[in-house]
Amino acid sequence: LQLNDKVAVVAAASRGLGRAVAEALAAEGARLAICSRDRGRITAAADAIRDATGSDVLALECDVTDPAAVARFAATVLDHYGTAHILFTNAGGPPPGSVLDFGADDYAAAVELNLLSTIRLVNAFLPAMQRQGWGRIVASTSISVKQPLPNLALSNVARAGVVAYIKSLSQRVAADNITANTVAPGYIMTERVDQLLDDRAAREERTPAEVREDLAGDIPARRIGRPDEFGALVAFLASEPAAYITGTTLLIDGGMYQGLM
Ligand code: NAD
Repeated sequence: LQLNDKVAVVAAASRGLGRAVAEALAAEGARLAICSRDRGRITAAADAIRDATGSDVLALECDVTDPAAVARFAATVLDHYGTAHILFTNAGGPPPGSVLDFGADDYAAAVELNLLSTIRLVNAFLPAMQRQGWGRIVASTSISVKQPLPNLALSNVARAGVVAYIKSLSQRVAADNITANTVAPGYIMTERVDQLLDDRAAREERTPAEVREDLAGDIPARRIGRPDEFGALVAFLASEPAAYITGTTLLIDGGMYQGLM
């Protein structure tokens, strides 16, 4: 994928999808800067990735909802590596619940977590990409940007803005050899999905195994996705061969989305 020695910034990477992206990029030879809110957990993730791949991994504590922390994170990364080529924006998901369960403050918090964190990370790292005339931005969203999910109203609302932002950005920076895309996972088996499925089982008074079986049965691929499959997609979008793919939203959902486009 021609990622050798590229500097890749991966947000919210101590576990789950962010961790899988960090692992995939490191396996392709990229140097990493990763963050999450907890120093111990992000350091442990960095040690594991370094051991597995031999890549340089800078691990920093950063809550992506905190503007000052994002600015410190970017300053440290740019000071350490001198630039950044790839940015994967990511954060945790907002709490589950249906549309009328929440007030405006809850929606504002979700927008802060998923949309404004994306904008802050882009603002922090884009100038370095523009200076070198090469950049890849991949923003994590959800299948909910195509098809809202029941009981994930906060996520449905906040993530739609990420697609609009990344699309607008892609048009502005394409001529600088910078691509910007969003990835939209259906169900990928991470700790968060495990937790959401346990919650659903409790709500519906069913066993966790039944809920997982039913969910897999509703997916044309008949299974929940793997984090390494998600990491592989993002690594490709971040690569040189993906230079002409920009402003798009790629589903990774085992065929779960029901629409045509
Ligand atoms: P996860 O809970 O397993 O991992 C989330 C990671 O984000 C952890 O490393 C955590 O420390 C970090 N994090 C959370 N809030 C943060 C913050 N404010 N600042 C910095 N780091 C933070 O979740 P996941 O399954 O890997 O999902 C990642 C994102 O993708 C979430 O927003 C989730 O809602 C979304 N998503 C996941 C799936 C899926 O199938 N896994 C599907 C659709 C959307």
